[in-house]
Parts: sequence; C-alpha cells; structure tokens
Amino acid sequence: SFRTVLRELTEGMIDPAISPGETLPDLDPSVFHKRYLKELRELGEGHFGKVTLYLYDPANDGTGERVAVKALKQENGHVPDGWIKEIEILKSLYHSNIVKYKGCCTEMGGQVVQLIMEYLPLGSLRDYLPKRKLGVPQCLMFAQQICQGMEYLHSKRYIHRDLAARNVLVENDNLVKIGDFGLTKYIPEGEIYYRVREDGDSPVFWYAIECLKESKFSFSSDIWSFGVTLYEILTRCDHRQSPPVKFSEMMGATQGQMTVMVLIKLLEKNLRLPCPKDCPHEVKLLMEQCWAADPTQRPSFRPLIEKLEAIRR
Ligand code: ADP
Ligand code: MG
Repeated sequence: SFRTVLRELTEGMIDPAISPGETLPDLDPSVFHKRYLKELRELGEGHFGKVTLYLYDPANDGTGERVAVKALKQENGHVPDGWIKEIEILKSLYHSNIVKYKGCCTEMGGQVVQLIMEYLPLGSLRDYLPKRKLGVPQCLMFAQQICQGMEYLHSKRYIHRDLAARNVLVENDNLVKIGDFGLTKYIPEGEIYYRVREDGDSPVFWYAIECLKESKFSFSSDIWSFGVTLYEILTRCDHRQSPPVKFSEMMGATQGQMTVMVLIKLLEKNLRLPCPKDCPHEVKLLMEQCWAADPTQRPSFRPLIEKLEAIRR
C-alpha cells in the first residue's frame, strides 16, 4: 500500500524538529536531511513540480555535492499517493539515459516529501540546444539516446506520457537523459490532464491524436511524442518553430478548450508539423511514421534506434 511505500521511502529519517542536536549515523545514503540542504538556485518549474539546485553539505564546509530537488508545487498537509508512486517509479529505473534517483527528504514528520536526483549541469534540451550549433549527426545521436531510455522504460511496461525536449536533460555534449518521470502521470484531483495553459506551453501539441480525442495513452502515443521531440531537436529548440507556435499558426487564433478541437480537426486532415530546415529526408520519413493516425502503424523504439543508427553512419 502507499502507506507502506511511504514508510519504506522515509525510513530512518528523523525530523530535526523532533530530535534537536542529535546526530545519528547515516546508514542509508538515500536519506537526505533537510538541515544539510543549502539552496543554490531554482532550476525550473513544470506543470506540477518545481526543481531547485541544492548543495547537500552534511560537513557544513562547502564540500558537499550538488543535487536537484523536486517538490510538488502545492502541498496541503498530506503527501499525495500519486507523488509517492512516481518517486517509486524513478527509484526502480536504472539506465544510462534516465536521470538517476538519489533519495528522498521528508519534512514535518512526513507531510512533505521531496525527490532528490542527480543534477545535470547543462539543464534541459530546451536550455541547451538554442545556445549551440549542433550538427545533424549529434542531434540524431541525442534522439537515439532518448529512444534507448524510452525502450527501457517501455520494457518495464511504463509509459511516459510527457516526452518533450523540456523533459530531456543534458549531462554533456555526448549524453542526454530522460528526466521528469511521470510527475505528469500524477494528475491532481479535479485537474484536467490536457488543460490548455495560457503560457502557450500546453503539452497538447505533443499528444497523439487518440490522446486528444479519447485520452488514450499507450506505448504508441509515446512514439508520437518522440516524433515531436525529434522535431524539436532538429529545430534546435528554436522558440519561433516550437510545436505550440507552429500548430497555432496552422490553426489560427483559438481559445481555451477550442484549441483541442481545432487541433484534432487539423490532425484529422493529416496536417503535421513542417520538416525542419536541415532535416534529412530519411528522418522526415521517421517523424511521419511516428505521427501515423493509426497507432498500430507507428514503429516501436527498437526499430527507431536501428534506423537512427543507420542514418547517422
Ligand atoms: P515538471 O514535472 O514540473 O515539469 P521537471 O522535472 O520537468 O518538472 O523539471 C522542470 C525543469 O527543471 C526542467 O525542464 C529542467 O530545466 C530543470 N531540471 C529538472 N531536473 C533537473 C536536473 N536533474 N538537473 C538539472 N535541471 C533539471
Ligand atoms: Mg517537465
């Protein structure tokens, strides 16, 4: 049950407010104590979470390690079951293209639980790509690594549901990792999953047609989102060509819930994002396969990995 999971996650954590001054041996490296976390700066904010960079410095001499800490944006007195579940998912994933779980930190006797993960200094692809002049082969290498992380995720029978450049983190010029596991899978009660956000950053533009029409998320709908992510990578995450901007140009001015209806109409007419400028023809074909209206016609990640590998060479 969630209670048991929460207990397991937070076992051994002693709230400093309860036992002041007491130092206990830290046997579990996944237990992070709030009092040793020094806030450095805000890293980013998404739909439901907020990520902050901290120095975890138990020695209190500045020698600690930098960690990324994710907290739910609104917490009112209890830990939502969905949030604990998502922490459990990340904890169970081990792959070179998936961000590493490091541990948890609880406050107020378990009323607040934060997720501690490794810090990736180059931020998301959206922070990284516009600043570099990446060639097509390197773009395709990143795309292939995303496929590798996703193939692993699917092999564990999880679906991501929010694959997008903003959720892919950059370790260095040769390595990317998928971050943000399914915080979006957890939908606060009363929240409409594909609610259109006013800041133009709504995930609907990454959704497969069946997700928009029937809220049907599947392994194949992750493939569609990968196609959109591939498009973002090849446009080097240029804001002027972002999926929301491009789709809005095709749709004309619409508002609120209308957006989803107009978007469905457009996709039903087989309209898709344009081919990025220096995108090779074979890659354009891959994107089109990912965006097949019929989910069964879309490839899975294994053949995508092989095709990207072949195109790269
Ligand atoms: P949300 O679930 O709210 O969308 P994310 O996990 O996507 O939150 O994090 C929001 C942003 O914070 C990301 O787009 C990225 O810029 C930054 N970020 C998240 N995790 C890390 C990390 N481990 N290292 C560096 N930056 C990160
Ligand atoms: Mg995110």
